[in-house]
Amino acid sequence: MKTIVFLFILFTINLNPQAMAQEDIRPKKLKEQHFTPKVTKPADEWKAKLTPLQYEVTRNKGTERPFTGQYFDFYEKGNYYCANCGALLFNSESKFKSGCGWPSFNDVINLQSINIVTDKTSGMIRTEITCSNCEAHLGHVFEDGPPPTGLRYCINSVSLKFIPISEQIGKH
Ligand SMILES: [Zn+2]
Repeated sequence: MKTIVFLFILFTINLNPQAMAQEDIRPKKLKEQHFTPKVTKPADEWKAKLTPLQYEVTRNKGTERPFTGQYFDFYEKGNYYCANCGALLFNSESKFKSGCGWPSFNDVINLQSINIVTDKTSGMIRTEITCSNCEAHLGHVFEDGPPPTGLRYCINSVSLKFIPISEQIGKH
């Protein structure tokens, strides 16, 4: 009987919301990394350069409403650049239809192009990514993406600027 009471107490303690840890949904394979940004501007300069929603998302870590962005259901061939500084981030090869309401990629072109940061807001522990060149907030990464990485980079459309392949060939 004593054992049962003891187990019951343990069980109750575990269910206590105060004792429960925040759920940690960070992808195990991504290690934290932070680069010194090459592009830095005071807030008023970013405000002048960006739309109000772009500013809110990229400089204040906001989130655009799902199923509203320019690229969530967009599958043309080309590259995606940082909307703030123009750094190359993703290409259409890694973009996939996730149904989550935001543009989703299973890989970045170059891991050095992003900062990988722990985000403990919203009641859970997530992995945030920002542009390593200018620290613009891009979105979060989850472990429910397709192979080969198994990752889902869930990115705000307003953090990105798409340039189609045809225009890139013209540029070079
Ligand atoms: Zn950037």
